[in-house]
Amino acid sequence: MNFLDYAPAPESAAILNLRDEYGLFINGEFVPGNGESFTTISPATEKHIATVSCANEQDVDTAVVAARRAYEKTWSRMSGADRGKYLFRIARLVQERARELAVAESLDNGKPIKESRDVDIPLVAAWFFYYAGWADKLEYAGMGPNPRSLGVAAQVIPWNFPLLMLAWKIAPALAAGNTVVLKPAETTPLTALLFAEILQQADLPAGVVNIVTGAGSTGSALVNHADVNKVAFTGSTAVGRQIARSTAGTSKKLTLELGGKGANIVFDDAPIDQAVEGIVNGIFFNQGQVCCAGSRLLVQESIHDDVVERLKARLSTLRVGDPLDKNTDVGAINSASQLGRMRELSDIGEQEGSERWSPACNLPSEGFWFPPTIFTNVSTSHRIARDEIFGPVLSVLTFRTPAEAIAKANNTPYGLSAGIWTDKGSRILAVADKLRAGVVWANTFNKFDPASPFGGYKESGYGREGGKQGMHAYLAPTASKGVNR
Ligand code: NAD
Repeated sequence: MNFLDYAPAPESAAILNLRDEYGLFINGEFVPGNGESFTTISPATEKHIATVSCANEQDVDTAVVAARRAYEKTWSRMSGADRGKYLFRIARLVQERARELAVAESLDNGKPIKESRDVDIPLVAAWFFYYAGWADKLEYAGMGPNPRSLGVAAQVIPWNFPLLMLAWKIAPALAAGNTVVLKPAETTPLTALLFAEILQQADLPAGVVNIVTGAGSTGSALVNHADVNKVAFTGSTAVGRQIARSTAGTSKKLTLELGGKGANIVFDDAPIDQAVEGIVNGIFFNQGQVCCAGSRLLVQESIHDDVVERLKARLSTLRVGDPLDKNTDVGAINSASQLGRMRELSDIGEQEGSERWSPACNLPSEGFWFPPTIFTNVSTSHRIARDEIFGPVLSVLTFRTPAEAIAKANNTPYGLSAGIWTDKGSRILAVADKLRAGVVWANTFNKFDPASPFGGYKESGYGREGGKQGMHAYLAPTASKGVNR
């Protein structure tokens, strides 16, 4: 132990009161599914957490029928003010159970407790508070005359921010007056099931939210169900494409939030230590399993060596390990298959001639782990500069002029996020204007707020979540200026 080492500070899991088995949450109750149950494990230890039901097509149909009934009989008839009261109640219950939800999220996903405690769960509550405030104002806020809900929303979410993605989907849908059937990812169903208990505590009318667990086939049955009016999907571009194809030609309204290969651009006048913190936050937050991660660092050539040296020094202080330890900076990778993809793409990076570097760190012998990694000598044609690795892997490229930085940043099939680090406000505005990215952060990275719209260009998807734009995605188009997307 060197003199700066911390003692272990694990957050206790005793606060959790988990069941051994979880059913599907349909019509306000937990019911067994007809598919083959599956196990959810802790990616940090590979230990069993709970057995979870799998919804087959018949179960998905039961859930959609329940959502339709709740839509017609209760939710669409309720005043916006009353819908808002339920959303406020849910937000407060999330805050009351915040510690428990944070522990469950870190256990099931592998993310550090300081992130689930300080970022994920507070944002979940913030999302419900924010959209609760919209529920009674739809008619007065530029959504067009008499904005109408769509009906039943089918929502499929990924595993990287399990409860936060649930909140991004459910809060605006309910505020607008829709009912929901949501499918969490198969590796991280736990917090969605705890959320179902919160809905029971909140006395939300039966059927307004239904949660069906399972893998891709459950998701496919849900988005292809004939009686859903809206499909909202966050996940891989490959699955997003399939969903776009299968919903084309139907009346289903669709929003897709897919992958990214965000550029984090550092100019030579940037405050370098601050930029290094932003680079670390941009790619090592949530083990880099973030669609808007700053996975390509574009650094002005004149400061390249200095930035890389300071970055390496900073990475050497990151603590990789037990997600439940309050001092952990980088936790476990969510699944064996994600880990396999990181290893494969990183090996290809080396084979293509990039230089790989990781700080010395002792990775636990069990579970799924990948060290923070940076690649230098990367060129734009390398796979690690083009493919989404979705892990703690940073590719460093250089540029000489702002025009070259912009050209390189936009040289990707994706268009979700970007970052600009410079001392000059005018340069921020000039560069941001030319970046084809849905979100551009300036002198910061990975900052989220429910009032701010989020979404992509090109293969990163379409539609916006968050803010007033996020409400449009759950309302029927009107003849007025209210434009969808
Ligand atoms: P995925 O797209 O396969 O899974 C996301 C969700 O979609 C899960 O709930 C999954 O069960 C469901 N799903 C899978 N196939 C489906 C289908 N045919 N119809 C409907 N739903 C379906 O993503 P993944 O395999 O978990 O991750 C693979 C890659 O996706 C990652 O490496 C990363 O590049 C990307 N990804 C992006 C995000 C994001 O936030 N944009 C999140 C997770 C993964």
